[in-house]
Amino acid sequence: MSEKTLFQKIADKELPSDMVYEDDRCVAFRDINPAAPTHVLIVPRKPITRPDLIEEEDEALVGHLFTAARRIAAQEGLTDYRLVMNNGADAGQSVFHIHLHILGGRPMAWPPG
Ligand code: 5GP
Repeated sequence: MSEKTLFQKIADKELPSDMVYEDDRCVAFRDINPAAPTHVLIVPRKPITRPDLIEEEDEALVGHLFTAARRIAAQEGLTDYRLVMNNGADAGQSVFHIHLHILGGRPMAWPPG
């Protein structure tokens, strides 16, 4: 079996995190290096490497990340927030286990850097 990703180890609680939500398909924890007052990462338990490797069989799972985001945003008291999923190193992906960023608590500029 291949080695677990960093985020699998966090999901399995082999590594510590400030977890704010979990269910049978995903976990969510605070980003270690927050880019906004609220910065949470939503991570499927299934270790899909990059967004462009999401398959049709994963569609329900990916949709689930967005409904989890809605719940977490409400829990965090956010009404306006940004959801981001980076695809590949040049787009800013640094952890190769897909994750949805929730960023909120400050006004967001567009376009992003
Ligand atoms: P990416 O750059 O891949 O879109 O996002 C990865 C995010 O994971 C970054 O914002 C980074 O700060 C966060 N991160 C990296 N390692 C850890 C860690 O060990 N714990 C937590 N909580 N966040 C991490």
